[in-house]
Amino acid sequence: TELEQLYVHESVENVIPTDAFVDAFDEVSIPAELVGDGREYGASDAVATYVPRPEFLDAGWVHCIRAGYDEFDIEAYEAAGVPLTNSSGIHGSTVGELALTIMLSLARLGHRYRDHQTERNWWEPPYDRPFTIENERVCVVGLGTIGKAIATRCDALGMDVVGVRRSDEPVPGVSELFDPDRLHDAIENARFVVLTVPHTPETEGLLSAEEFVRMRDDAYVINVARGPVVDEKTLIAAIEKDQIAGAGLDVFETEPLPEDSPLWDLDEVIISPHKGSATNRYHLDIADLVAENVQRYRSGDILKNRVA
Ligand code: NAD
Repeated sequence: TELEQLYVHESVENVIPTDAFVDAFDEVSIPAELVGDGREYGASDAVATYVPRPEFLDAGWVHCIRAGYDEFDIEAYEAAGVPLTNSSGIHGSTVGELALTIMLSLARLGHRYRDHQTERNWWEPPYDRPFTIENERVCVVGLGTIGKAIATRCDALGMDVVGVRRSDEPVPGVSELFDPDRLHDAIENARFVVLTVPHTPETEGLLSAEEFVRMRDDAYVINVARGPVVDEKTLIAAIEKDQIAGAGLDVFETEPLPEDSPLWDLDEVIISPHKGSATNRYHLDIADLVAENVQRYRSGDILKNRVA
């Protein structure tokens, strides 16, 4: 069936301006239209969306505008024979730069200076608190688009970069790779443990009590993946007990992070509101990817980032 129409589900407004996103398809020869819930779809329709909806299973092709598609029912898509694609491949520099921002701040105290600035307080940190990330070891867990981008950036800043990966194919900037079943060996000497794996049954609770015991007591957890990859309660306890030094978190078990979460009160925790990919041109990065797949779909080529 020919692809005739692209429907943009209103849920994309969670992360991008809807009108600018629809307008971005002006140059692609497919009409794009903003829609809400309850519409019927057919085989000549494509849908770009943030959330899953049962009615999308009648469309010809569905694009999840997120990289993490864990909320979509893969089996249902496979049973219906509807291709599902995601937005992996476009978050390297955006999420990568946020991870580096957080790491540099934790090392050089940007977060603490700003805390005290709001009180006009010329606060001076303890002599032994600040450190350079240069020469420190970072362990990047999951070396896909984001993990690789973080690894090359950390390498460029002179860090000792190791990684956890299922394949042993070398990764630029990474000096040593560990198989996932050697996670403990990978994290035990790291100053920063950065999580860049998808949320799957295998990665849920990947960092929990045992891991925090194994980690250095001056180590930081950076989670830019998905909240459930870290056992949040245990993380809070580990920081409160000084088992580890702190954390930089863009993602949480519950989002928005509840007002009563103890995380808000921890000095050495940096919280960002799941904005790893948020930049002023995010809608264009996603539109480029969707437009490329419109071309591929039409010429019968394999879709990029097909996940079901
Ligand atoms: P990607 O698919 O390119 O990379 C994921 C990598 O993790 C792959 O190399 C995969 O093989 C590896 N992996 C999977 N399970 C593993 C395991 N058990 N052990 C080790 N490696 C494993 O995806 P990406 O674009 O790099 O994004 C990664 C994740 O980050 C997404 O799934 C999403 O949940 C999250 N994300 C967060 C934001 C944000 O705003 N904070 C933005 C985009 C993506």
